[in-house]
Amino acid sequence: MNILVTGGAGYIGSHTCVVLLEAGHEVIVADNLCNSKAETIDKVEQITNKKMVFYPIDVTDEEAVERIFADHKIDGVIHFAGLKAVAESVEKPLEYYYNNTVSTMVLAKACQRHGVEKFIFSSSATVYGENEVPFVETMDLLPAANPYGETKAISERILMDTAKANSKFSVSLLRYFNPVGAHESGFIGEEPTGIPNNLMPYVTQVAKGKLEKLQVFGNDYPTPDGTGVRDYIHVMDLAEGHVASLDRLTPGVHIYNLGTGQGISVLQLVKAFEEVNGVRVPYEIMGRRPGDIAESYADVSKAEKELNWKAKRGIKEMVRDAWRFESQLPAAQK
Ligand code: NAD
Ligand code: UDP
Repeated sequence: MNILVTGGAGYIGSHTCVVLLEAGHEVIVADNLCNSKAETIDKVEQITNKKMVFYPIDVTDEEAVERIFADHKIDGVIHFAGLKAVAESVEKPLEYYYNNTVSTMVLAKACQRHGVEKFIFSSSATVYGENEVPFVETMDLLPAANPYGETKAISERILMDTAKANSKFSVSLLRYFNPVGAHESGFIGEEPTGIPNNLMPYVTQVAKGKLEKLQVFGNDYPTPDGTGVRDYIHVMDLAEGHVASLDRLTPGVHIYNLGTGQGISVLQLVKAFEEVNGVRVPYEIMGRRPGDIAESYADVSKAEKELNWKAKRGIKEMVRDAWRFESQLPAAQK
C-alpha cells in the first residue's frame, strides 16, 4: 500500500517507517521538521535500503496536503504529526489546539475528498486521566490535566464523528503508553531538543554525563516503592503495532491500547538501566511533578486478540537500545 506518514521524521514515526518499508509498503512522509531532522529520513532509508518520498510541509496547510493526495494514490494515512510537550501545552494552549486538531481535520478532509479509507491516529494513554488501572479501551475518558491531552481526546472525537457519517471510513485510534528505546541498529532513536521532559531520555543523558543527576518526582505515591508507575513500551514494538493495525483495519472506529500491560516504577527503570548497561545513574528524590498520576498501565488484551499483536521486547531491551542510541551521539550535541 501507499501510506502517508505524517510526522515520519519524528521519534515514533521514523521507527514505524522502518517497519512499513520492511513490510513492503511505499511510504510518503510529510513532516515540517519542527521537532526532527531531515537526516532521519536518510537514516531510515539506510537501515531499510529502501526509498521514501519526503514532503517538508506543515500538515495544517490544506493546499500542501492536497498536493500530496493529488500526486499519489494514497491507500492509508498514519497521523503522527503533532506537538507533544505537556508543560509547553499549558503555556501555549492555542498552538497545541491548533496544530494537533487542525492537522487531524485537514487530513481527514483530504481522505474524504480522495476516497482514502484507512486512517490511523496517534493517541495517548493520557486520555484516560486518573481512571483505575489497568486502563481499558471501554472506559469513559476523564478530562486531561493539560491542553495536550485534550487535543488527543478532541482528535479522537473528530475521527469518530467522521466515521459515523462515512460508513467506509476505517479508523484506528492507538493509545500509546510510554514509548522508549530505539531501533536495534542504534541509528535512529529519541533525540529531544533541550532538556528532556521524559524519564528515559533524561536517564540516558545523566548516564552520558550531559546532565548531572536524575530528579525523581515523588516517592510517596501509593505504589510498591513510592515512585510513579508507567507502562513502558519499546518503540519497535509500538511501530509493529501500527502495521498490525493497518493490516486488519475494517470500517468503523477501533480503539487499541498499545503497551506491555506491565507497570514499572521510576526506580525499577533506573535499576534496570544501571544493571543492563553497567553505568551509573545518580538520582535525587524531589517533590511530585504537578499533573502526574501515580500509576498508568494498559489492559492489552484487545490488541492481542484483535490485532494478533503483542509487545515482544522487555525492559532489558528497552534500556539497552535507549543507551546504545545515546552512546553513539556526539557528546557535545546537546
Ligand atoms: P516527535 O516530536 O518526535 O514527532 C512528531 C513529528 O511531527 C515531528 O517530526 C514534528 O516535526 C512533526 N510535526 C509536528 N507538527 C507538525 C505539523 N503541523 N506538520 C508537519 N509535521 C509536524 O514525537 P513522537 O514522540 O514521535 O510522537 C508522535 C505522535 O505520538 C505525536 O502525535 C504524539 O503526541 C503521540 N504520542 C507520543 C507519545 C510519546 O511519549 N512519545 C505518547 C503518546 C502519544
Ligand atoms: N519522571 C521523573 N523524573 C523525570 C521525568 C519523569 O521522576 O525527570 C517520572 C514521572 O514523574 C513519571 C515517570 O517518570 O512517574 C514517567 O514520566 P514521563 O514524563 O516520561 O511520562 P508520562 O508522565 O507522560 O507518563
